[in-house]
Amino acid sequence: MKIRKGDKVRIIKGKDRGRENTVEEVLPKKGKVLVSGLNIYKKAVRSKQQGQKGGTVEITRPLPVENVMLICPKCNKPTRVRYKVEEDKKRRICKKCQNLL
Ligand SMILES: [Zn+2]
Repeated sequence: MKIRKGDKVRIIKGKDRGRENTVEEVLPKKGKVLVSGLNIYKKAVRSKQQGQKGGTVEITRPLPVENVMLICPKCNKPTRVRYKVEEDKKRRICKKCQNLL
């Protein structure tokens, strides 16, 4: 996964396209990321007791990782991530400004 928890990302596809926030959770097996406060869906809930109204709850749904782009903290632009191997460590770098991410 090129995106990590705590990364700032921009959504490039779907209903929240253009919006930005921080990655709250990464789900590598599903290839998805959970971005706080984005991709929210309302789910109707039924009332548990008679006479009470049912309501809606808001659920943040994970997004496919292809739908987000990392925002480089240095150049502040959405960027594709590139890897660079240095001393046997894989490091992420910004394609635009070559900053280590
Ligand atoms: Zn950059």
